[in-house]
Amino acid sequence: MLHFHSRSIITLVIAVVTFSCAQQEKKENPETKKQDEFYDVNDFASVRKYDTHIHLEVEKTTMVPQAIKDNFHLLNINGDWGPIDVPDQQKIALKVEQEYPEQVAFAASFSAKNYNDPDFVSKTIAYLKNSFEKGAVGVKVWKNIGMELKDKDGKFVMIDNPRFDSIFDFIEKNNITLLSHQGEPKNCWLPIEKMTVNSDKNYFKEHPQYHMFLHPEYPSYEDQVNARDRMVAKHPNLRIVSVHLASLEWDVDEIAKRLDKFPNMSVDIAARIEHLEYAAQTSWQKIYDFCIKYQDRLLYGTDHVEQESNTQSMAATIHDKWVEDWKFLVTDDSLTNSDGMHYKGLHLPKEVVDKIYAKNAERMIPGIEKKYTAAK
Ligand SMILES: [Zn+2]
Repeated sequence: MLHFHSRSIITLVIAVVTFSCAQQEKKENPETKKQDEFYDVNDFASVRKYDTHIHLEVEKTTMVPQAIKDNFHLLNINGDWGPIDVPDQQKIALKVEQEYPEQVAFAASFSAKNYNDPDFVSKTIAYLKNSFEKGAVGVKVWKNIGMELKDKDGKFVMIDNPRFDSIFDFIEKNNITLLSHQGEPKNCWLPIEKMTVNSDKNYFKEHPQYHMFLHPEYPSYEDQVNARDRMVAKHPNLRIVSVHLASLEWDVDEIAKRLDKFPNMSVDIAARIEHLEYAAQTSWQKIYDFCIKYQDRLLYGTDHVEQESNTQSMAATIHDKWVEDWKFLVTDDSLTNSDGMHYKGLHLPKEVVDKIYAKNAERMIPGIEKKYTAAK
């Protein structure tokens, strides 16, 4: 009896000591904590991700096979630009979706070419109805509204124009997400040499028609942002992704103000992550805090365009870009991007990374996630 009793005590003591050592180890080993809370560069291909902002202008894509390897699902967005018309872009999108039903969803757009026709609104709604029947999960409106489109009197048409209201109501009624690209980065209103990031310098050198510094007679930067804000305010139940950091890339405090004011709006970081990297050089903590505070409102995207001229190199280009962005968001390494900018990675916790790369896309753009269900 005594023998048995002392053995029990010894067993108990060993158990307690082992348990408390394990506890101690768990508490004190920062490596264990690190592995639990953060991804690293090696996790890139295994984590489920969406690039919610790409444009496929070719049927024989090399981007999608690369996306499969890198565990990216894609939102292929049509837009009211050339040289391919909006309905022809949709034909390409449907072909690609048919070939890769688990990998690619698409967002429709509509052409504003016939804006001044009396039946513009009804025809646009009919086109969108058809697009939704074919599986569109979003509708994109582009910067041509605000920068190109004019009414019968030659006045610029802005995105808060009442003529768009019934179109937006129709999108809302169908539980579809509006992807709004209004305005441009603030750099667009500056001379090239004053712009902050090379990606903007290169874009506006190549597209002088959209370089607003050269067109002072066009609506101002503030006009663009204000019109977009009024549109968002007018449609509080419409889900809106304001792409390109809502054209407020120059200060995350400005983005924060809108996210606080408009619960129906989120933003994507497509083609503006460079601005976050630029700001991280001097205000790392501010950018980090913004990403933590608004972790439910940020979507990942690149805005990469695959077309005949670049399809050969696209797989490598997009892979390098995806990895570069992953390193910035996930690691705490000292990094240099393809633009030559030096900054430290944001080292966002796993939970936040999963939201930015997947969960926010699934919540903000319903339908995009069905592709994943189908893939299982
Ligand atoms: Zn785009």
